[in-house]
Amino acid sequence: MTQEQKHKPTNFIRQIVEEDIKANKNGGRLVTRFPPEPNGYLHIGHAKSIVLNFGIAADYQGICNLRFDDTNPHKENIEYVEAIQDDVKWLGFDWDDRLYYASNYFEQLHDFAVELFKAGKAYVCDLNADEIRTYRGTLKEPGRDSPYRTRSVEENLDLFARMKAGEFGDGMKVVRAKIDMASANINLRDPTLYRIRHGVIHHQTGEAWCIYPMYDFTHPISDALEGITHSLCTLEFEDHRPLYDWILDNVSISCHPRQIEFSRLNLQYTVMSKRKLTELVSEGLVEGWDDPRMPTIAGLRRRGFTAASIREFCERIGVTKSDNLIEMGVLEDCIRTDLNIHAPRRMAVLHPLKVVITDYPEDKIEQLSMANHPQDGSMGKRQIPFSREIYIDRHDFEEVPPNKKFKRLIANGEVRLRGAYVIRCDEIIKDEKGEVIELHCSHDAATLGANPEGRKVKGVIHWVSAPHALEAEIRLCDRLFSHPTPDATKDGKDYKDHINPDSQRTLTNCYVEPDLAEVRVGVTYQFEREGYFCLDSVLNSHERLIFNRTVTLRDTWAKLEQEHNS
Ligand code: ATP
Ligand code: MG
Repeated sequence: MTQEQKHKPTNFIRQIVEEDIKANKNGGRLVTRFPPEPNGYLHIGHAKSIVLNFGIAADYQGICNLRFDDTNPHKENIEYVEAIQDDVKWLGFDWDDRLYYASNYFEQLHDFAVELFKAGKAYVCDLNADEIRTYRGTLKEPGRDSPYRTRSVEENLDLFARMKAGEFGDGMKVVRAKIDMASANINLRDPTLYRIRHGVIHHQTGEAWCIYPMYDFTHPISDALEGITHSLCTLEFEDHRPLYDWILDNVSISCHPRQIEFSRLNLQYTVMSKRKLTELVSEGLVEGWDDPRMPTIAGLRRRGFTAASIREFCERIGVTKSDNLIEMGVLEDCIRTDLNIHAPRRMAVLHPLKVVITDYPEDKIEQLSMANHPQDGSMGKRQIPFSREIYIDRHDFEEVPPNKKFKRLIANGEVRLRGAYVIRCDEIIKDEKGEVIELHCSHDAATLGANPEGRKVKGVIHWVSAPHALEAEIRLCDRLFSHPTPDATKDGKDYKDHINPDSQRTLTNCYVEPDLAEVRVGVTYQFEREGYFCLDSVLNSHERLIFNRTVTLRDTWAKLEQEHNS
């Protein structure tokens, strides 16, 4: 067991699994699966399911399969198939050679349907979608039998064969299970098992099939064929469980996995439905599935989140049966905690103000040694050049201090430059509009590095050497929506009306320390006093350094909400 696993809290699913193993159910075996439909990229909600399925398997010497639930070809494609595998791997999980597709089982599914026909437990129905709905009844009223329910076995087999051969158009016929049109559970009122779909090329089976099995038929059989022991899914499938069990009880498969439902992850300030995420992408409201503001794994990764922080988040929120809405702050806290420990420190000036240190020799350059992490010596040190001209952040200077708490540079005041000297502001240079464009300062040569006795200067600010610094663009990513539940507001507005207009602000002409010329994609840094940032993996180029802000140093939203509430 790794450190990470030891601290895992238990949950009701782990308890069931433990009991089953103890009772030697399934011969003590544990097999789970993660079954995404390749109709979009994975999001943080899927991460919860991945961590649960792969995590439980790893902790109890079981295995977890990756299975694409690919029965709906017109919405699916190979880009998604590849992106999903990439994201699961990046999250730190491995399915070894157990990569499956529901479409691998099309032949077997077909044969099981034939079995149901032969047993008089399925029929071909000619009602159209609207009619099926009308016949189905309501929660209060029972349904009515389809007029095609009493077709003979021979007729059903013949029609099914002709459906398969492509004789009928889309929607002209479906296959339905013959269960109970009066069942209190609507899912058992002769659910559809197969439908006709012409003119689509399936990413795995091409044009081999024009009939496609429905999820409720495919899922239990795929689980059983793979010998899944615990089929974990989200709560909306609770009412489908009797159907899951009915299918497995009525086809000749000996394996009967146990379906267990848990609540979906809902996260504030974002949307999690694939339909909506697809819409954001296709309507160009975001840069793509991997836009750093998206709740997708690809987006979080591009934003600078670590896989460990996402796994930690999934553990922290736990697994229960009750619906919940998790605060974005919880996710942000996970990444902050991780990066606070692991992110190397650098200096970057986001809103540069030139400072000339008038008493520092013009041709002098000092290489100052700075720790890469204040607590972790093993992260080593780096050299930072210091020279007569530097940049500081314009928010670190005020001509007149706005309040007593302001500890940074003011006219005729002193401040320490992190890891360098104490400087004093002697002269303020302004443009014709009265805006401060440059400061002339002097330095105290005796204050290099540490804070020597008798020189108590309250403020410490960051800086970069002007001739050495690299110019960069910095994208300040923020929450994509300005409402905590954008798709459930009571004002009748669409979730898209709640997109946060400030969710992506770009600062140009920022300066970062020269050491960052060596920066790699995939490493997230702390820019001291500013937050956590990483190189953008897509837009970045040799000509332009582009960083994304992963997260601020502190939870500024909590503060805003506090102010708002008080
Ligand atoms: P859609 O948003 O289109 O309804 P889906 O979320 O069901 O799709 P799938 O690809 O079918 O997407 O999901 C794969 C697995 O991930 C399923 O087992 C599903 O239950 C689980 N899952 C999806 N969303 C969440 C979520 N928000 N929280 C926890 N698990 C989820
Ligand atoms: Mg689904």
